[in-house]
Amino acid sequence: MPLCDVCGREFNTEVALGQHKKDKHGDSQASPAPAQEAKAQSAGSGKRRTLRRRNDHRVAISIVAIGLVGGIGLYFVIAPALQNNFTFPCNSTEGTFMHVHPYLRIQVGGQNLTIPAGVGIKTGCFEPLHTHATDGIIHIESPLLRNYTLGDFFTIWRETYGSFSFNGTSHPIEFNQTDIFGLRNDSTHRVVLLVDGVESTKGAGLNLDTLDYLAGPIWEGGSAPYPYGTGHTVVIEYLGS
Ligand SMILES: [Zn+2]
Ligand SMILES: [Zn+2]
Repeated sequence: MPLCDVCGREFNTEVALGQHKKDKHGDSQASPAPAQEAKAQSAGSGKRRTLRRRNDHRVAISIVAIGLVGGIGLYFVIAPALQNNFTFPCNSTEGTFMHVHPYLRIQVGGQNLTIPAGVGIKTGCFEPLHTHATDGIIHIESPLLRNYTLGDFFTIWRETYGSFSFNGTSHPIEFNQTDIFGLRNDSTHRVVLLVDGVESTKGAGLNLDTLDYLAGPIWEGGSAPYPYGTGHTVVIEYLGS
């Protein structure tokens, strides 16, 4: 409680004391109190501001922490779908809603090339088109029905292995009507696509869904008899003249 140093009266505030001194004792400059109070106040609010700033930091750090944890969590949630940069979302187990087994053979200059096992398969990730063995069977195992093309298989193959070596040379994994593994149509060579032994002009756009080696239309679910029967065949040849 501020006291008047002249009359000893008690006041609730410095402002009231200053006013009293001015009024009762004619002390014109007797009241630095409001200024002091203001200073005190501003000092106080300064402290509060510091506190608030500190709290702001804490909030900011918390937001960053939550963001980090959330981000990491989100990463793990969506990572399976994005991992390995595959074209199609990864399936953690093999989709069997749609299950078709086209057979693909690739010949260059009359030589059969072995399509590798494990195309479209990485740890915890199955692409809807993949190979399990080197038997030329493409497994279309998908949780949803949609069209998958021969071009999709080459894309997934490229995304899995990057390049394909045969006869001591590394080749790009690509296919279209005029190019197989970088071997192109020229005056003495051409790329030929055969579906059930008949030349097709569909190239990479060839829809594989109805070309089960087992024969017949799209086959869904259940356990396939294996080895398969003799249904549809897809053959890519690079012919020299
Ligand atoms: Zn499979
Ligand atoms: Zn299969």
